[in-house]
Amino acid sequence: MSTAYEITDHIHDVLVIGAGGAGLRATLGMSDGGLKTACITKVFPTRSHTVAAQGGIGASLGNMAEDNWRWHMYDTVKGSDWLGDQDAIEYMCREAVPAVYELEHFGVPFSRNEEGKIYQRPFGGHMRNFGEAPVQRACAAADRTGHAILHTLYQQCLKRGAEFFVEYVVIDLLMDDEGDCCGVLAWNLDDGSLHRFRAHKTVLATGGYGRAFFSCTSAHTCTGDGNGMVARAGLPLQDHEFVQFHPTGMYGSGCLITEGARGEGGYLTNSQGERFMERYAPTAKDLASRDVVSRAMTVEIREGRGVGDEDDHIFLHLEHLGEDLLLERLPGITESAQIFTGVDATREPIPVLPTVHYNMGGIPTNYHGEVLRPTESDPDAVVGGLMAIGECACASVHGANRLGTNSLLDIVVFGRAAAIRAVETIKKGSKPKPLSVDQSDRALGRLDVLRHADGASKTSEIRGELQRAMQRDAAVFRTQETMQQGQKNVDAIVNSMDQIGVSDRSMIWNSDLVEALELENLLACAQATIHSAVARKESRGAHAREDFPDRDDENWMKHSLAWIDENGKVTLSYRPVHTWTLSDDVDYIEPAARVY
Ligand SMILES: Cc1cc2nc3c(=O)[nH]c(=O)nc-3n(C[C@H](O)[C@H](O)[C@H](O)COP(=O)(O)OP(=O)(O)OC[C@H]3O[C@@H](n4cnc5c(N)ncnc54)[C@H](O)[C@@H]3O)c2cc1C
Repeated sequence: MSTAYEITDHIHDVLVIGAGGAGLRATLGMSDGGLKTACITKVFPTRSHTVAAQGGIGASLGNMAEDNWRWHMYDTVKGSDWLGDQDAIEYMCREAVPAVYELEHFGVPFSRNEEGKIYQRPFGGHMRNFGEAPVQRACAAADRTGHAILHTLYQQCLKRGAEFFVEYVVIDLLMDDEGDCCGVLAWNLDDGSLHRFRAHKTVLATGGYGRAFFSCTSAHTCTGDGNGMVARAGLPLQDHEFVQFHPTGMYGSGCLITEGARGEGGYLTNSQGERFMERYAPTAKDLASRDVVSRAMTVEIREGRGVGDEDDHIFLHLEHLGEDLLLERLPGITESAQIFTGVDATREPIPVLPTVHYNMGGIPTNYHGEVLRPTESDPDAVVGGLMAIGECACASVHGANRLGTNSLLDIVVFGRAAAIRAVETIKKGSKPKPLSVDQSDRALGRLDVLRHADGASKTSEIRGELQRAMQRDAAVFRTQETMQQGQKNVDAIVNSMDQIGVSDRSMIWNSDLVEALELENLLACAQATIHSAVARKESRGAHAREDFPDRDDENWMKHSLAWIDENGKVTLSYRPVHTWTLSDDVDYIEPAARVY
């Protein structure tokens, strides 16, 4: 059954979809540049997942000891296990320093060192002098850095008069016959109305898809909506097999304990009380890269040295740091540990377990934030009218493994870059491309089908099956057999979507329908993840295969591209990694063994 819908039309210069750190930094810059900017978001801006970021934002300010953006670049390339695009990494690490000072001037209340400068703490994989010894590079506002940044950016956007459409769910992109993006269709949850937005450029800043897994540190809203829209527009998703497990999710709830806790001197032990990281990473120890620490913890548990009644987790010790330091530098996690594990971190160790945390893959872009539609003759071809930034995008600065603090950095640097590009290329006041009414039919059709779906399966049941399948078979350690089983399961769950039933037909605050729309997006993300993972026959960064334990640069130093058709069939292709830098005086960093 289908219903006629009334639609309200809007015209802007730019649309930003998402009001996390990436979306707000872009909105701010575009408004500043005189562009008529609409920021559309399904949750109130300051509830976006960025608000939960704890540990810090990376920049080689050198406030605590000598540092250099070239060392930061080296660490990021090495952290990425040489899958990152070095032009984009150079851009991010060089721009990090002005980007953080800019945040300071916008009003972000950073913690201070004794000289009154921005306080910086050590973090995993941050080293001085090309990998020699740890350096303090993570600029922090206690353990609430994301909160401080997000609130400041939102205030700056309001000051500039940016227009916000809050609690509007974007359903799909509107693409024209030439394959360019002309805008989006969105649904206002509060009054049930539908809205067609047109603009010269649409910027996706919709965040990650942690919720495709059973246990993750991300918010319930992290459902990969932008990635789903891009897949449905016939564009590929890049490097989705690289999913980061954070070493210290709280045992049970999955809530995050920042790596900053180890940066401040915390350490991990097994059931024998041994500081086992000394065996796996003799130099960096507990501050090795996240994939390295998560694997070490998993090996300890598997070999019978886990702690607790079931020998199935690890201890994180902070109690030796003392109450004063914990309350000054790590107040948030001290409180959360009490709430979620019942542990007083000033006295006892916290039970932790590797937990899904971040998606390195996403919508492929160049370092200006423009979305790519790679072809064989031009792997860097750009889609007209479409940009992507932040965790939904893959620039690719994180490659196969992201370093802690590089995501808050990514969202502000590329949010800013997208604004610069839009201001340069859009002629203010000119009309966006015309839109024929039937362009929104496909998007409307998708909404209508789900709204009236009357199958026997609940959204929550199908989502639960997906989350369990992904947790089991797209795990820290992977084999051909387990992943093939996972792929079969995920594809079957996609096919089972014709059994879905949505109980509420209303258009006002229909959370059942919102979750069904989100589930379709999670499924596209999951398919891209598991299909790309099965195909990649090597171990690199977060993709650790027991049957192919080594990195294979000759055959696999390339980005995976997953194309999903309307029947859920996945086709893979590849594009080369950028092996060049932007400046003449910056050399390409040659692949080497990755030891910490
Ligand atoms: C617990 C936690 C701690 C972290 N700590 C750190 C840290 O210390 N340092 C660091 O560098 N990184 C950290 N990260 C990672 C980092 O915080 C995130 O990668 C980053 O904040 C993502 O920002 P974003 O702007 O891309 O997306 P988000 O902040 O997730 O925002 C997404 C936005 O998109 C909107 N949206 C999504 N779908 C739709 C739709 N269909 N229609 C309309 N709007 C939509 C949402 O409303 C939201 O506003 C942490 C992550 C977590 C989960």
